[in-house]
Amino acid sequence: MWKQNHRVKSDVLRNYSDWLSYKEVVTLSLETLSLPSEKEEVKASKRGRPTADMLKCTEYLRSGQKINVEHKLQLTMVDGKVCNALSQTSSAKCYICQAKSKEMNDIDKCLQKAVHKEHYEFGLSPLHSYIRFFEYFIHVSYRLDIKKWQIRSAEDKTQFMEKKIQVRNKFRSEMGLIVDMPKTGGSGTSNDGNTARRFFNNAGLASQITGVDEELILRCAALLQAMSSGYKINADKFKQFALETAKGLVEKYPWFYLPPSVHKILVHGSEVIESAIISIGELSEEAAEAKNKDIKSSGT
Ligand SMILES: [Zn+2]
Repeated sequence: MWKQNHRVKSDVLRNYSDWLSYKEVVTLSLETLSLPSEKEEVKASKRGRPTADMLKCTEYLRSGQKINVEHKLQLTMVDGKVCNALSQTSSAKCYICQAKSKEMNDIDKCLQKAVHKEHYEFGLSPLHSYIRFFEYFIHVSYRLDIKKWQIRSAEDKTQFMEKKIQVRNKFRSEMGLIVDMPKTGGSGTSNDGNTARRFFNNAGLASQITGVDEELILRCAALLQAMSSGYKINADKFKQFALETAKGLVEKYPWFYLPPSVHKILVHGSEVIESAIISIGELSEEAAEAKNKDIKSSGT
């Protein structure tokens, strides 16, 4: 399998490396490394991470001069499941600081934890981040009346389900969005990048439907938009804004622990942005996502 990927990748680089800018070559090479079929986390953990020696040096001529281009692989377009598998971290923990679910709302404690800087290279996955933030807000919304992390009693379960149905119906009637419904075929839910972007682009209506704080939705929207903009981000300002947002969320909804994917952006986002070789938005996984269908249909 790797041999085949390697051939495709080398062709891409050989054909285009004389006119693509450095960052475009990087993007293409990563796109061709999209993980095929099976479940992503299983594949990743079975196979281990690809290494740079799987790529041959690319040679090309420019003005009669031979130029050798060496390639360095960085896994910047992988989603949380793959990061967890590669870093051998449970999905309930942060793969950067190892914080557990129940520690996530103590932001200052999380900031004091030792971090695995080598995992910064996994990037921030702007597209998946949109979906994970959106899901955070709707799960908070379902619990606004009961104010509990775990739904155990029959009474809580009934109340939770009633609120969930009410919120989903409002999304459908007021925004035309089908939210949090299982996909036909059984994999995942209807929550995709489009649903999440519509939510964050209409913070006022999203707040009315869900009952969650509009200001907090807007703050998260600003962070997500900055991350996917492709512009270079001022990491210090991002950090300050993200930490204020994290503290705002846990103050307002202390009974709901920040999910690891939301914690990653708010607590570690600025360091990941600072360590990225190009702007974090250019490391978007959208190209890889676009290849999912091809990869699945190839059955490799
Ligand atoms: Zn962490």
